[in-house]
Amino acid sequence: MAPTVLSVRDDARAVLERLGVPASAFAEGGTPARSPVDGGVVAELRETDREEAEAAIGRAAEAFLAWRRVPGPRRGELVRLLGEELRAHKDDLGRLVTLEAGKILSEGLGEVQEMIDICDFAVGLSRQLHGLTIATERPDHRMMEVWHPLGVCGVITAFNFPVAVWSWNAALALVCGDPVIWKPSEKTPLTALAVHALAVKAVKRFGSDAPDGLLGLLIGGRELGERLVEDQRVALVSATGSTAMGRQVAPKLSARFARAILELGGNNAAIVAPSADLDLALRAIAFAAMGTAGQRCTTLRRLFVHGSVYDALVPRLKAAYGSVRIGDPRDPATLIGPLIDVAAADGMARALDEARAIGGTVHGGERLRDIRGEGAAYVRPALVEMPEQAGPMRRETFAPILYVTRYTELEEAITAQNAVAAGLSSSIFTRDLAEAEIFLSASGSDCGIANVNIGPSGAEIGGAFGGEKETGGGREAGSDSWKAYMRRATNTINYGKTLPLAQGVTFEV
Ligand code: NAD
Repeated sequence: MAPTVLSVRDDARAVLERLGVPASAFAEGGTPARSPVDGGVVAELRETDREEAEAAIGRAAEAFLAWRRVPGPRRGELVRLLGEELRAHKDDLGRLVTLEAGKILSEGLGEVQEMIDICDFAVGLSRQLHGLTIATERPDHRMMEVWHPLGVCGVITAFNFPVAVWSWNAALALVCGDPVIWKPSEKTPLTALAVHALAVKAVKRFGSDAPDGLLGLLIGGRELGERLVEDQRVALVSATGSTAMGRQVAPKLSARFARAILELGGNNAAIVAPSADLDLALRAIAFAAMGTAGQRCTTLRRLFVHGSVYDALVPRLKAAYGSVRIGDPRDPATLIGPLIDVAAADGMARALDEARAIGGTVHGGERLRDIRGEGAAYVRPALVEMPEQAGPMRRETFAPILYVTRYTELEEAITAQNAVAAGLSSSIFTRDLAEAEIFLSASGSDCGIANVNIGPSGAEIGGAFGGEKETGGGREAGSDSWKAYMRRATNTINYGKTLPLAQGVTFEV
């Protein structure tokens, strides 16, 4: 990026330059990219127009024809190079995540580490895209399944994991043989531009068997996401964001029989049982509920505490809420940074008013206007003691609010935990083996993620990530999530001289 670009603020200029974001990404008077650190404009950007989006999809469709023929392990080499670029630029990219998404430094860096980890995972996977050989009922026959590249993969991402979610999808899609077009959140375009620049560098180092159009980036609002969703040439859309977004996207994808990976909202809970290690539970709850300023899809939002330990735990939690360090996320001493924008703080205030109106007792939750001025949205996390699960406790408010209620019987707590629309993540704190097993059993937690003695947030990339019900049912990252990026062909081969039909059918002509 040329240092003469006026539309980039000084604190971002050097970082964007080192990350290789081209000057053509910026435009005087263009769309503002804001930082939640102070609410100010960091850069003015040129948005992708309709024709450019159309051309990107066309180039990706072309690229698919070539990329699907490149052997998997060779495709893995591209992802290995991407991992190298991310390692080399981890510090800069992590700081940019902090500046643009407001995450504290360790979480900004942690997000980039997650990208590096999924690249490593995908490189190994590139040699393990295996199918099965299946016993056939016919003599002199062999039956097997083979996994082939699927097609263009559209990736729509949310603001709160501005870079990691792209990599969960892109690293896998690339080794699976699919070109990737990314529509990042309109709230975090700078980190997307930076990641794209690093990926382009990896492609250049990889050489000529990476086709033009393999990686696309669409900078702008939801209408660009809609372009991906509606285009027949996009075989798979992986969409991460609110359930409201998923409700719009899912029917359009199903109407054209496209594949969907939906990673939507969560309303995650934890149960603290009588035998829980309360010191451990306290630390886990504090991080899961307050960390990332409550802006993780896996943030802990509901807590069911057994009556026998309520008074031993909740006052200590209240103290932690009262003393946690809130401030500029670039300060290493800060534990809680800002909300993404003032609208998010307003949404939090509304939820707290609703909770009060139905008998909730709110501790904390106030806006802290003196940290970086009116344009920024710093809040004290809120702990809300509720008489029962009701009102705003039943839905996701994307802010640091933890609703707490008492329970008596484990079954009652599990039923309450499952009685919300989302089904992403859940935890139980217990040292009773039977209780832990009940929680993890078929009649226990109905979530995609169920943990024992750790909080619901902070998943590792090795497992499949995603949730049930209104969370959308998608799975990403580890385990066998890669299968969603490929198509399965079942092949039966007759190496004999007769033609036995399946199920003993005879048909002589
Ligand atoms: P959002 O729904 O406002 O936006 C997400 C993305 O979808 C953006 O890129 C946006 O431009 C795009 N979009 C919105 N409407 C669209 C449409 N009709 N068609 C195509 N694209 C559209 O979400 P957000 O505020 O950025 O993120 C917060 C939400 O994301 C929370 O609900 C959180 O729980 C959820 N989230 C879920 C996961 C998960 O893995 N389950 C991960 C991160 C965030």
